[in-house]
Amino acid sequence: MAIEALTAASAREPMRLRAYRVCLDATPTQITMMAQSAGAQRWAFNWALARKIAAHKALIGARHQLAIERGLDPDDRDVLRGLTREATQLVPRIPSAIDNLAAWRQACRDDAELTPWRSGVSSYCFSSGMRAADAAFKNWLDSRSGRRAGGKVGYPRFKSKHRARASFTIYHDVKKPTIRVQDARHLLVPRLGVVRLHSNLRRLIRLQRHGDVTVRSITISRQGRRWFASVLVEEPAPTRGPSRAQMQAGVVGVDVGVKHLLVTSDGMHLPNDRLGRRLADKLTQAQQAFARTQRGSQRRAKAARRIGDLQARLAERRSQRLHQVTKHLATRYAAIAIEDLNVAGMTRSARGTIEQPGRNVRAKAGLNREILDVAFGEFARQLAYKTGWYGARLALTGRFEPTSKTCSACGSIDPTLTLAQRTYQCAACGHVQDRDHNAAINIAALGAAQINSEAPDGVQLQVARSKPPGRTSVLSELPDTRDKRDSRGDISGRRPRTGRQASPALRDDPGRPRVTARGHPDGVIRQRSKHTRSA
Ligand SMILES: [Zn+2]
Repeated sequence: MAIEALTAASAREPMRLRAYRVCLDATPTQITMMAQSAGAQRWAFNWALARKIAAHKALIGARHQLAIERGLDPDDRDVLRGLTREATQLVPRIPSAIDNLAAWRQACRDDAELTPWRSGVSSYCFSSGMRAADAAFKNWLDSRSGRRAGGKVGYPRFKSKHRARASFTIYHDVKKPTIRVQDARHLLVPRLGVVRLHSNLRRLIRLQRHGDVTVRSITISRQGRRWFASVLVEEPAPTRGPSRAQMQAGVVGVDVGVKHLLVTSDGMHLPNDRLGRRLADKLTQAQQAFARTQRGSQRRAKAARRIGDLQARLAERRSQRLHQVTKHLATRYAAIAIEDLNVAGMTRSARGTIEQPGRNVRAKAGLNREILDVAFGEFARQLAYKTGWYGARLALTGRFEPTSKTCSACGSIDPTLTLAQRTYQCAACGHVQDRDHNAAINIAALGAAQINSEAPDGVQLQVARSKPPGRTSVLSELPDTRDKRDSRGDISGRRPRTGRQASPALRDDPGRPRVTARGHPDGVIRQRSKHTRSA
């Protein structure tokens, strides 16, 4: 049924899936029910995973037995690999989520004591838990066989109540829509009833008014003390090219830096986030306080809650900032050029091994922290899909191009440049420029060359070198980035020492009035509401 609906929609226009995330203002009863649902999801995950692991072990055993029977070496990996196909014929296959769901239903009929609490939660909690077990197992298998990109995925582990993230998914029923956006501030969720929202779903409602929007599922999860709902909808995908303003702006190069969060080729500097740093300091303190508490004590539990809350706030804040920056870039320029950095390689432990001890360990440790703060991988991922939405293009420039060491004015290369030198001084032409700005221009030039060479209509894009006159700076338009919750004191109820103060966080050209813009909720709707500000 769902598939029919999908193909019917895609025949009309391209559709995309998009998640709208909102913070819930749930009642105590609803919070209890959400915790129970997340518990059911976790139970189902563990139950399904246990069955999958048992079946997998049986397969491994059968393969080993085959090798011995054939007189082959049962420890040779190549021998075993060759026998896998044959061994699968001998043992039951690894159960999928569908198999597991059916087995669980049968087990419930046989044993009334199995999950007697199941009637209290949506049955989708069970299917979503079992699907998650499928995904965990598949990720591990694909990672092992090299089908999955990225870092190695470990063998799936059981979810613990204390370690796992509380989360559950309820799917949309096509026959009778059970998940409904009632109005901008209320969401109807099966079992939970009408849940009030801290933030709003106005954008989604506006889309619904134009038709062609289907809610596919809702995932409810806890982050720190708060519960969030992520409403997955299928909506028409915009198909448009770059606007005239974007074409005029051309190709912007972005250097993701250490001193600054990022620097663009037209000279905008976005400083590292001070508030994030302050939250990170608080987190360190909270972790130290936790270490001083006694195992099993009330204070320890309280300290753990505080750590969780700070971690959630920090994560939320970083995510919000990243979304703002990537949307600004994707909407203002025809193309964005970034370096294709090997983040895993850059952040690899600086300590090295005993045979090969790392050099410059302290400096590298600081650098690593900064790089992880910047979350470069996520930055690139967001740019990749947002450029698609806004008609822009993303150019990844080579990983080994000497963008920092090349003069952006004459192109000569200074191989002696170190990380400590913050200013680029060209020995050949005398050009002097901020190191990161110089690198950003080089990245933009590489990106422009790449894009212009592929331009089918021969339209050549310019490198955005300096801010066009009359247009407000991209990055200075970011809204005040102070965390509203932070100014109200921390969760211990301590009042802030000072009231509102101007944020020093964002500036580019000194002397130009700072523009404070409204929020730009983007893709993900952030928590930002009257309620949070005044509570
Ligand atoms: Zn030069």
